[in-house]
Amino acid sequence: SAKRLGRNLSQRFRPALDKQDNPQLALVSDLRAALISGDQLELHYQTQHEPGSGELVGMEALLRWRHPKDGMISPGDFIPLAERHGLMSQLGAWVIEKACAQQAHWRNSAMPKLTIWVNISALQLFQGDLESQLTTCLKRYQLKPSQIGLELTESVLLDERAGDMGPRLQALRDQGFAIAIDDFGTGYSSLGYLKRLPVDKIKLDRAFIKELPHDQADASIVKAVLAMAEGMGLGVIAEGVETKEQCQFLVKAGCTSVQGFYFARPLAAAELEKRLVPAPAIVPSAS
Ligand code: C2E
Ligand code: MG
Ligand code: MG
Ligand code: MG
Repeated sequence: SAKRLGRNLSQRFRPALDKQDNPQLALVSDLRAALISGDQLELHYQTQHEPGSGELVGMEALLRWRHPKDGMISPGDFIPLAERHGLMSQLGAWVIEKACAQQAHWRNSAMPKLTIWVNISALQLFQGDLESQLTTCLKRYQLKPSQIGLELTESVLLDERAGDMGPRLQALRDQGFAIAIDDFGTGYSSLGYLKRLPVDKIKLDRAFIKELPHDQADASIVKAVLAMAEGMGLGVIAEGVETKEQCQFLVKAGCTSVQGFYFARPLAAAELEKRLVPAPAIVPSAS
């Protein structure tokens, strides 16, 4: 048993023990490394469409982490971790920088000119210098604020730590950024906040789209939100549209923009270019 104790002790003092015992901590330090090297992180882009014509209306940037050992890790898994361990400001800044760089890169290409919507975490809004980060990036890449949209979840906007978000959002809007409420309808919110907060757009959560057109309750909710948004001069994007039937329902209900696997999955920038920019015809070389 002395032998066993000895082994335990030597294990205890192995520097990597923390990480072995707590895979989350290991992931946090991997994320820190990924932020320094930058080359494991990517933004993927999912297009947004007018549902009747399929016309492109915008795109959303979605963060991807290609972990060297574990493969793709979903943002749903590592973003909460980044938030808990003080990495969110840095991660959020990386996203803004990358989206602006991409927008600048596409400016002089054959890519359609679309607003890129980025997801903004609560912590970026509460503690970060979001506004100056954004303006610095716009300047660096010579972009207009209308080329970057900001998506904030309902829970962010209603977070009590935030106090009154109105003035802060208004400042961003005054700069020319459009603001969307992400995952609309999933928080336990009163609708009153819609009247108070200066936003441009609602992203109707996919929970309400999933069972369309069959589910009567969802159908009613979607129609009611569309009517309310129209009355308030807000845009609506339906999220998670996967089927033709859902799309047809939304067209009939008067929804003017949708996003979902039915049109496109989130794609790496190069993949998106292949999809959106028609390849030049192959010209036989004179020989
Ligand atoms: P979100 O902003 O609501 O993004 C939409 C999510 O739905 C994405 O998941 C997207 O891949 C997925 N999705 C799109 N169309 C469909 C569909 O037709 N069916 C289904 N089942 N899913 C669809 P993803 O990329 O895993 O991102 C999850 C969440 O992580 C995002 O939800 C957002 O809250 C957060 N996130 C992603 N990137 C960032 C980022 O750069 N910063 C921050 N703060 N959060 C991010
Ligand atoms: Mg989003
Ligand atoms: Mg969403
Ligand atoms: Mg979501």
